[in-house]
Amino acid sequence: MESSMTNDMRLGTERTDSFHPFGVPMESTVCGQQELHNLLNVLRPYGTARNPVGVTDIKQADSSPAFTDQDTSLIIAGPCSVESEDQIIATAKALAEIPEVKMLRGGIWKPRTRPDAFEGSGEQGLVWLREAKRATGLPTATEVATPEHVELALKYEVDALWIGARTVVNPFSVQQLADALCGTDIPVFIKNPLSPDLNLWLGAFERFQKAGLNRLAAVHRGFAYYKETPYRNYPMWEIPIELTQRLNVPLITDVSHICGNRELLQVTAQKALDLASDGLMIECHINPETALTDAKQQITPEELKTLLSNLTFRSKQSYDVEHDLAGLRGEIDDIDSELLQLLARRMEVSAQIGEYKKNHNVTVVQMDRWKKILADHIATGADMGLPPLLINKVFEAIHQASIERQGRIMENDEESH
Ligand code: PEP
Ligand code: MN
Repeated sequence: MESSMTNDMRLGTERTDSFHPFGVPMESTVCGQQELHNLLNVLRPYGTARNPVGVTDIKQADSSPAFTDQDTSLIIAGPCSVESEDQIIATAKALAEIPEVKMLRGGIWKPRTRPDAFEGSGEQGLVWLREAKRATGLPTATEVATPEHVELALKYEVDALWIGARTVVNPFSVQQLADALCGTDIPVFIKNPLSPDLNLWLGAFERFQKAGLNRLAAVHRGFAYYKETPYRNYPMWEIPIELTQRLNVPLITDVSHICGNRELLQVTAQKALDLASDGLMIECHINPETALTDAKQQITPEELKTLLSNLTFRSKQSYDVEHDLAGLRGEIDDIDSELLQLLARRMEVSAQIGEYKKNHNVTVVQMDRWKKILADHIATGADMGLPPLLINKVFEAIHQASIERQGRIMENDEESH
C-alpha cells in the first residue's frame, strides 16, 4: 500500500512526477474533482433541462462551500443490456426524471460466460440507444471490446465508452482498443480487471494515455474471488483506493456488479461514497424481472430514486480524512473477513477430529499436545513481532471453543458436517 500520496496531490494542488506510474506528468489531466468536471463537461453537450456544467460553474463550485459532491457525483444508470427499443426508451425516460442521473449506460455487446445466452442487440441496439439519447438528452455509454465495436459506437454517437473487466485482463485487446481510439477525445471508463491485479489495471490506463486519450476514469466493479462471499465480485476496496493514489483519475464504483443482488446495493453505494468515490454505476431496468442479463441485480428507476435519496453525499472537505484512511480500512475489512473464514474452517476441522475421537474412544483434551502447540505459536508470533500475551489469549479462546464443540460431539448432541 502506497501511503506517501497526500490528498493535495490527488486534488492537483500539489504535483510531483515521482508518483506518476508513467513517469511523466499528466499535464492535460487535471485530477480528482476537476477532472470529473471536465468529464461532465464533455458528457453534457445536449443542454436539455439539465443545464450543462460550464467553466464558470466550475469556478463558482470550487469556491463555494455550499457545493457538495452530490452535484458532482457522476451517477451512471441504465440497463445491463439494451434489449429493445421500448425497453431502453422507457428506462431512459424514467431515469431522466432523476436529477442525479447524469449518464445512460446500456450494454450492446455482452460478454457471456457460457455460449447460447443473449449476447446483446449489436448495431440495432446502437440505433435504439441513440434514440434514447435524443429523447432524453442523457449522454450515453456502452462497453467496447474490439476495434469493430469502437467504430460502430462512434458511428452511432455514443458519448463515452467503457472497457469491461474481461477485456482489461488482456493487454492485446486493450492495446487494440487504444489504437482504435487514437485521435479521438472520447471519455473512456476503464473497469478493473477480473483479477485483483493493480498493475494490469494501471497498464490499461497507460496504454490509453499513450494513445492520447486523457478523459479517463476508473470503474471499480469488484474482483473474482476464490471463496464464496456475500458479493458477486469481492470489492477489495484497497485496490481502487491505491489506484487513485497513484493516478489522478475519477473513481466510479459499479455497485451492481460488485453486489450481484439488489439487497446490498444501498450499503455498498454508501460505502463507495464514504471511501471517496467520484460516482456510481448502477444497473437499472424498467422491468428488472424480465431482464435478459443480470436480472437479479438490476433495479427499477423508482428504486434508484429511493436509493439515491437515502445516500449521504459528503462534502469534499469531510471526506478527505476518510479518503486517506480508506485504503487501510479496506485492507482491515478484508483481513477480518479472512480471519472469520479461517476460524470457521478451523472449527470444522476440529469437529471432524471430535468425531474421530468419539469413534476411537480418545479423550477430547490432550494437554501435552496443546501446550506444545501454544508454545510454538507464541515463539513464531514473537518472531513476527506479535506480543506473547495476544497469541496466548487468541489461541486459548480458539482452543476453548474447539474443546466445547468436541465435547458436544462426544455427548452426541452435535455432529460435524
Ligand atoms: C457490464 O457493465 O454490464 C459488464 C459486463 O461489466 P463487467 O465488465 O464489470 O463484468
Ligand atoms: Mn451487467
